[in-house]
Amino acid sequence: MITVFGSINLDLVVAVPRLPTAGETVSGRDHQTFSGGKGANQALAARRAGAEVRMVGAVGRDSFADPALENLRAAGVDLSGVRALEGSTGLALIGIDRQGENQIIVASGTNARVEAGWLDGVLGAGETLVMQGEVPYGELSGAAERARRAEASVFWNPAPVPAGDIAACLEASATLVVNESEAAVIAVGLGIAAADPEAFAERLAGAGRAVVVTLGAGGVLARSGNARYRFAAPKIEAVDTTGAGDAFCGALAAALDRKVPFERALKEGVAAGALACTVTGAQSSAPRKEDIDRFADRVV
Ligand code: ADP
Repeated sequence: MITVFGSINLDLVVAVPRLPTAGETVSGRDHQTFSGGKGANQALAARRAGAEVRMVGAVGRDSFADPALENLRAAGVDLSGVRALEGSTGLALIGIDRQGENQIIVASGTNARVEAGWLDGVLGAGETLVMQGEVPYGELSGAAERARRAEASVFWNPAPVPAGDIAACLEASATLVVNESEAAVIAVGLGIAAADPEAFAERLAGAGRAVVVTLGAGGVLARSGNARYRFAAPKIEAVDTTGAGDAFCGALAAALDRKVPFERALKEGVAAGALACTVTGAQSSAPRKEDIDRFADRVV
């Protein structure tokens, strides 16, 4: 069983001829609405990858709450841990120009008010807690502490990397997943010399902690105990890389949660990340278990 403790957003996207400067209005045509938030994205990805998933987070009491949760509900994610609070659902306002450049304004809304205490009595031994970086760090560390007490395993994807001291969550993580830029930010924050992703993984992996660095089209490298892994991403026709990292995390967490050996679990993550690049959107592109399994056989 996977519990995702994280963000839930609605993304409002408008294609515009060019991005506005300060004080300027630029008009587009119709807007598109997508459910998002890294917590919700990874919950959906893990569910599509075959896991039982419950989401713990918050939405507002507004008209954005329902569409933000629609995909999770349709996929059978347990939403009993999602609270409706006074205030507004997390919202991302996204403008995209003809070159594909974007400008994003995020209202954290109720994501800023989630509480680690909501996990009390929720996590069980041998289960997995999956977290990202879009809810307050103090609650993430509180959540990690609750996972430790419940003997659940912590899977942390610190995206974006929280400001300040993140040692508590790093130490609590059984699996840490970062992309190259997140690895660089963490290395600077910790004041450690980690010239490249390999050195970063070596430095942060430890007793009971695996470290995974995703390398975009370059695939993935990881360190677990003394074992090193490196897999190339399968060649695909990438149409939209949005959501690749979330698909990777969801599939990897789902595989580890059902106790698949680490090497195979990594391959399933790589397969899911690549498949997600072949479809536009974040949640819409999360692949299904049959496709992940078939594609993972091709990862070397
Ligand atoms: P993020 O989206 O968090 O920045 P990455 O860009 O590193 O994460 O992508 C996560 C994973 O998705 C990669 O490790 C890889 O397996 C897969 N992936 C990403 N981009 C591509 C691509 N262009 N071709 C094939 N696989 C990709």
